[in-house]
Amino acid sequence: MRLVLLGGPGSGKGTQADVLKKKYNIAKLSTGDLLRGEITNNTELGKQAKSYMDKGELVPDSVMISILDKKTIEFEAKKQGYILDGFPRTVPQAEALLEMLKKQDVTLTMALLIDVPEHELVRRLSSRWTCKNCSATVGYPDGKPDDAICSQCGGEIYQRDDDKKETIENRMDVYMKNTAPLIGFFRNKGLLESVDGFGSLEQITQRIIMLFTEKDIV
Ligand code: AMP
Repeated sequence: MRLVLLGGPGSGKGTQADVLKKKYNIAKLSTGDLLRGEITNNTELGKQAKSYMDKGELVPDSVMISILDKKTIEFEAKKQGYILDGFPRTVPQAEALLEMLKKQDVTLTMALLIDVPEHELVRRLSSRWTCKNCSATVGYPDGKPDDAICSQCGGEIYQRDDDKKETIENRMDVYMKNTAPLIGFFRNKGLLESVDGFGSLEQITQRIIMLFTEKDIV
């Protein structure tokens, strides 16, 4: 399975990708997590990416495409299915992805949209906290309790710089302008499917699993 997960920031893509990764025993590549790892390790790529990420802007296509080129080749070499969370983010990235898969003589299984309206995305992002250790997220719409820790691994949780109020607005604009057009892009290619992104984590997972069963994807 080669799957692209689409949806605005805060749509639950990362969380669902983690669940699907375990259930179907496939790899997950989150470009946001990858870049945050590079920043933590203070690499050249991390230094370059940080200035864009802090403002809620996109890292240039050329940088992202060359990362993905390497990663997809590695997955194919290991004969490993994968989920992409956070890539593609622009139409040129989507075109490059289909082109690289073609060169590898494989096809994209599906682009799956987790459909959540914009006002709900803003509400979720502004109350989102992330685990420093495992990247799991949790929402605290009424404020974070002082003693809160990650419910998955007990790690320390923090609010991502780009989940702060000033940056959220810019990220939503960037999403609407650059990433939302991917919905039409994949629809035109006959690759788009979507699930309603309202509900509990388990409800949304069930919708995805039902869709995969209907489409005979395992
Ligand atoms: P995310 O964790 O997916 O919300 O990504 C956090 C930030 O990383 C984004 O706001 C971008 O600055 C950057 N980023 C992640 N993936 C991409 C991508 N495919 N293209 C450009 N920038 C990206």
